[in-house]
Amino acid sequence: MNVNDIVQERIDAARRKAAAKKRAREELAQARQRGLQARHAAKLRRTPWPSLYEYALAHRCPTCRAPSGTPCTAPRKQAAAASRNGLRSELGLAPCDTRNEEMHAARHDAGRRHYRRDVGNAPWPEDRIAGQRYDTIGPTA
Ligand SMILES: [Zn+2]
Repeated sequence: MNVNDIVQERIDAARRKAAAKKRAREELAQARQRGLQARHAAKLRRTPWPSLYEYALAHRCPTCRAPSGTPCTAPRKQAAAASRNGLRSELGLAPCDTRNEEMHAARHDAGRRHYRRDVGNAPWPEDRIAGQRYDTIGPTA
């Protein structure tokens, strides 16, 4: 066994160690993502309101004219979000939910106004029935 073999052995050991660390990071990131999704779903079941994204999506976009229910046509916003998620995947991180960033601000504002109208029209929090939703987002919204 010469020096080259010893060096090669150490390089291989370092590669195995790095791969194991990367695998552990990926497993942790996946577990974290599953936990976040479960927490988000539980929160949605508890709250009587849909997310602001759903409110915004229920409106036609005043900027790009995307009809209600379909995402905005915003190539630069979508490219920026895809770039960020690409970087995150290179680092072994789970991708972010970028749906809100890919939407035009005017549509967000419309959704936010709609949400505030619903909150204003709903009964007081102490008079609400648990599990019931008080939003006015429907198939005709
Ligand atoms: Zn739009």
